[in-house]
Amino acid sequence: MSDYIVRASAANETLRAFAIRSTDMTAEMRERHKTLPVVTAAMGRLMSAAAMMGSMMKGDEDRLTVTVKGDGPIGQMIVTVDSHGNVKGFPANPYVDIPRKYKGKLDVGSAVGRGTLTVSMDLGLKEPYNGSVELQTGELGDDFAYYFTVSEQTPAAVGLGVMIDTDSSVKHAGGFIIQLMPSASEETIEKLEASLKEAGSVTAMMEKGMTPEDILNKLLGGLNPVILERIPARFHCNCSKERVAAALATIQTSELQDMINEGKDIEVKCHFCNTAYHFSVSEIRDILFAREHQSEHKTEGKQ
Ligand code: ZN
Repeated sequence: MSDYIVRASAANETLRAFAIRSTDMTAEMRERHKTLPVVTAAMGRLMSAAAMMGSMMKGDEDRLTVTVKGDGPIGQMIVTVDSHGNVKGFPANPYVDIPRKYKGKLDVGSAVGRGTLTVSMDLGLKEPYNGSVELQTGELGDDFAYYFTVSEQTPAAVGLGVMIDTDSSVKHAGGFIIQLMPSASEETIEKLEASLKEAGSVTAMMEKGMTPEDILNKLLGGLNPVILERIPARFHCNCSKERVAAALATIQTSELQDMINEGKDIEVKCHFCNTAYHFSVSEIRDILFAREHQSEHKTEGKQ
């Protein structure tokens, strides 16, 4: 089985539900950024939530970025997704190692700390949509639930989980989001609360072999769940040497000139996927030349 997102509705469309298997994308993130277990867990939870939120968007070009800026040792985490299940992201500090909690549980809350969770949506409109809330616990599931309630005025139950194996690899990663529409009845809410209590954690359900569909059917049992769509999901970065060169072209002339004077090849890494791109002195010279040429054109255009 590979990663995917499931979209569903229940209780006569008064509940909207999403579930994800994100084991492979979390494993790939770990491989690319060499994260230690508590960071793998934090990033896996964040990527799971962001990927499900991405599947709520409609447009092909729509993008959603979630930034978690905490005062814990991980620092900032950024994850960007599209509406097709493509997810990329990175933590500021991949190498956090802090004591575990009771029963050996990873202390994601302390590694993230207190700060803000910001969701920025680029839906092709002039201004991107931005919503921001204070982190409640840094465990992320609670923080996203709070975000939906406060920032989008749609109360939601959010479960996010990553199980790390004894060799630090990713055994399971996944999550669910269940949103209550304003028309949800008291009875529906009570039933949902009871099954949330009974179901246990996402990773416990995955450990039993449950798929995202199984997880939603379990959580929405007795509420007539209808599975609407299944969307493949993966870690995918759209960077290229051309894009990195375009970013290089925005740095100061004096800095580019310094690189040329040093006479050595340079390596530039993509933040999101850690892929290294190499530029020779003559390529940097070309970037500088192209820019100077371009600015000449601009000046001519103004006259
Ligand atoms: Zn990249």
